[in-house]
Amino acid sequence: MKCPNCGKRTAIDLDLHSEGFTSDENPVKECGACGLVWRHQSIKGKPEIDIIKPARRE
Ligand SMILES: [Zn+2]
Repeated sequence: MKCPNCGKRTAIDLDLHSEGFTSDENPVKECGACGLVWRHQSIKGKPEIDIIKPARRE
């Protein structure tokens, strides 16, 4: 999974099931490079990126 912010492939799955953030269809990802936390959603059949936490500032 490529990071939509920096394009690096260092994203990891976050397990936020207990907080109600994620589901098996829309797993929450965190980028190990820039810190962006996002998930993919499907809105009316179109893939959308939902930013949960913005990237760290350099
Ligand atoms: Zn990134």
